[in-house]
Amino acid sequence: MRATLIYGAGDVRIEEVPDPRIEHPTDAVVRVVRSCVCGSDLWPYASRPASEHGDRIGHEFLGVVEQAGSDLSRVRTGDLVIAPFVYSDNTCQFCQEGLQTSCEHGGTWGADGVDGGQGELVRVPQADGTLVTIPSTQDSSLLASLLTLSDVFCTGHHAATTAGVNERTTVTVVGDGAVGLSAVLAAKRLGAERIILMGRHPDRTDLGIEFGATDIVAERGDEGIEKVRELTSGAGTHAVLECVGTKPALDTCVGVVRAGGTISRVGAPQYSEGPLGRPVFMRNIAITGGVAPARNYIEELLPDVLDGTIQPGRVFDRTIDLDGVPDGYQAMADRKALKVLVAF
Ligand SMILES: [Zn+2]
Repeated sequence: MRATLIYGAGDVRIEEVPDPRIEHPTDAVVRVVRSCVCGSDLWPYASRPASEHGDRIGHEFLGVVEQAGSDLSRVRTGDLVIAPFVYSDNTCQFCQEGLQTSCEHGGTWGADGVDGGQGELVRVPQADGTLVTIPSTQDSSLLASLLTLSDVFCTGHHAATTAGVNERTTVTVVGDGAVGLSAVLAAKRLGAERIILMGRHPDRTDLGIEFGATDIVAERGDEGIEKVRELTSGAGTHAVLECVGTKPALDTCVGVVRAGGTISRVGAPQYSEGPLGRPVFMRNIAITGGVAPARNYIEELLPDVLDGTIQPGRVFDRTIDLDGVPDGYQAMADRKALKVLVAF
């Protein structure tokens, strides 16, 4: 089969690799129908040191179960399934608490002999716990929206829920990438009526408005903070959803959050120290969020996707085939594409 490998910064290749097979009775082999490139894939694409051997990459996919291990009771051959961006048994103490990203038997795609998601086939460990079976469909826009439950929309939802967003909270979303736009849609779905989106790419913030943003702030840094405060009578917003992953973005969050409010971080952090000192303490700011346990949210979000109440798949603005994946990375890195969908 053919799959995507990353060899270093700017160096993504499509190569022939061995077909996966069932290695444990709890495995399934899935033939990928849709995959995509994640904003977090762009970090290694920007900075990873060059190596002789490539590593498999990709962690968002949906597909059809081609082989099911003998221990599986939920997942069957022929099922259309969504794979969350980590695998998990869905039974251990952490999974039972809805934190499948900390599963005692879980792991990540593209590591330790497990296939990456940007390839034709994937061996799925812990398949009964990991995979969520969905109704069979050929509808391209529905498949795109279903794929967002693998990561990006669940990540936006995680930001909104951990920040306690409801119909009484005002919200600021920092970042107009696919996660930021997903966070806007998730906050709107949870009833927020005032959603300020901080982003400076008009084509993206336009989609943010369609997803439910009520105000756009294009300014960054102190100027952006000032603007959000002007919009909120000087107070800031109850919830602030950090969807970038940089320290300046987190500083902006501290600047725009209301006293007693909550900052939720879901951007993969590219920093090791952040603002946790006196300003946060004196204003009773809660800081929450983290890597999103997508598996915990899929069943809850699925009905709204299936009936078209929400269309998170609109974050995809380019569709490519597997051979187009290297160009897809470059297009996202150059900000020429918001999020690239891979159709097989
Ligand atoms: Zn578990």
